[in-house]
Amino acid sequence: MRTLLTESQLHDGVQRLAVEIDEHYGNNRPITLIAVMTGSLVLFADLIRRLSMPQRIGVIQASSYRGGTTSGELSVDSKMMIDVKGRDVLLVDDIFDTGKTLDRLTGMLTDFGAQSVKTGVLLHKQREHSTTLRPDFVAFKIPDEFVVGYGLDYLDMYRNLPYLAVLEPSEIEATAAQANA
Ligand code: 5GP
Ligand code: MG
Ligand code: MG
Repeated sequence: MRTLLTESQLHDGVQRLAVEIDEHYGNNRPITLIAVMTGSLVLFADLIRRLSMPQRIGVIQASSYRGGTTSGELSVDSKMMIDVKGRDVLLVDDIFDTGKTLDRLTGMLTDFGAQSVKTGVLLHKQREHSTTLRPDFVAFKIPDEFVVGYGLDYLDMYRNLPYLAVLEPSEIEATAAQANA
């Protein structure tokens, strides 16, 4: 595994992200923060405690990687979602890759009556995106490689790593064996 961002670099990046979001929204009116599960779990916990405005917190489940490391069909589960009608919403995800996830979710929240929808991510992959949407707040731009750690998984493993790492092809095979054990 090759470390791409250390724990301390991630810490600084999340702090910068929080400052940018604070500056955009100010600290008077409440905003509704929605975590795109499960990848944003760690980022979200760190981020919301650094923001100074009053917050309503919710989650939405979206997944597109079904066991592979390339993007597949997107499935969304909004059953547990908080009411967004008339609210200023910030969607928080781990990584912006093709853009399909945040594009779809932004559309859904707008349809549910949100007053505004913005997006914040830890990572922005430098590649071609399949949508015109771009994230509003980004902590790091990274090369087009499959990364794990700090919430990001392969087969639901590695989310607990405090750093971000690139998974090598041999490790991808080994993980599959371990995850099924
Ligand atoms: P998009 O819809 O932008 O293509 O993909 C977004 C989702 O795909 C992210 O929320 C994340 O769950 C997953 N994803 C994209 N790139 C990576 C990656 O390099 N590593 C991991 N673990 N997940 C990724
Ligand atoms: Mg995700
Ligand atoms: Mg995943």
